[in-house]
Amino acid sequence: MAESKRDYYEVLGVPKNADEAALKKAYRVLAKKYHPDSNPGDAEAERKFKEASEAYSVLSDPEKRRKYDQFGHAAFEGGAGGGAGGFGGFDFNGADMGDIFGDIFGDIFGGGRSRSSQYNGPMRGANVRAAVRITFEEAVFGCEKEIEINYKEECATCHGTGAKPGTAPETCKKCGGKGKIIYTQQSFFGQVQNVQTCPDCGGKGKVIKEKCSDCYGSGYITKKKKFKVTIPAGIDNGQSVRCAGGGEPGVNGGERGDLLVEAVVSQHPVFKRQDVNIFSTVPISFATAALGGPIRIKTVDGEVEYEVKAGTQTDTRVRLKGKGVPSLRNRNLRGDHYVTLVVQVPERLTEAQREALKNFDAVMHGEVPAETKHKKKGIFGNK
Ligand SMILES: [Zn+2]
Ligand SMILES: [Zn+2]
Repeated sequence: MAESKRDYYEVLGVPKNADEAALKKAYRVLAKKYHPDSNPGDAEAERKFKEASEAYSVLSDPEKRRKYDQFGHAAFEGGAGGGAGGFGGFDFNGADMGDIFGDIFGDIFGGGRSRSSQYNGPMRGANVRAAVRITFEEAVFGCEKEIEINYKEECATCHGTGAKPGTAPETCKKCGGKGKIIYTQQSFFGQVQNVQTCPDCGGKGKVIKEKCSDCYGSGYITKKKKFKVTIPAGIDNGQSVRCAGGGEPGVNGGERGDLLVEAVVSQHPVFKRQDVNIFSTVPISFATAALGGPIRIKTVDGEVEYEVKAGTQTDTRVRLKGKGVPSLRNRNLRGDHYVTLVVQVPERLTEAQREALKNFDAVMHGEVPAETKHKKKGIFGNK
């Protein structure tokens, strides 16, 4: 409030004696240039748009313009009029501003965008969300699932009007079919308009006197409907499949929304997944780790044989190329399967195993085991 505001005529770039047509023309140019829809995320453009809108809303109203000419910005500042104070808080997102500027935005954006025209134009139905649980392997290789949803359809008895057959919805008397009501309030600096959705018709502009008994006046019937959902190979937990036309019906001839089916992938006891790669842990024996040798590793394609290198340390990660998850975009591309080899320390030993390990340890420390002192070959005391 305290910061200095630019003069409204200066903002619009018009002389003090500019007539209504000149104001409108100047504002139209600025609004088009700085409209948030044309400058998404541009705070400076938004500020300029608001500044121009505020200037125009005051100067286009003869009463406000007179007060502005006389008192300047002080005419509209919070406490200046002692209680008048509502005008300081402009709400540019409110329906009332849409109404003030409706004619201008109407011709900038072809009429389809302004709030007022949305009441009667075709509107696409809302999307509907559902979820389907699939296994880890189903997510990797894709699958077909059938799900049942509540499907809203136009009532066949009343053809979507909601009125009892033989009757028709009537134009709402309260709002005259506009679906909204404009309240004009008198205040210190002139008239302020408030727009509200009509309470009698809920914004539809029509009221139903005798309701259709099949849909209770809603115009819609909800049925259970089954949808076949093709889950593509490579889908990840939380990703959705779109079934076009599976959503809610449109209004005034608008198309149906879509059904979005989210895949909820069950955890796998062995495999973990990250993007297109699979991770698992495989235990190997101490001897295999030390000596090397073949092991069997479980993958989503079944078991594969893998040759462990001699001298493998615990937590060594090996890669099974192409054994991961297919890419959603190109199922010929597959990720990899990373296996962490964990060396197992035996928990229970037989006497023979214990002896063998003791001998092994002795050799590792440079001692020659007692019973092999005179035999040069065989570190494990083989007889
Ligand atoms: Zn009906
Ligand atoms: Zn109404």
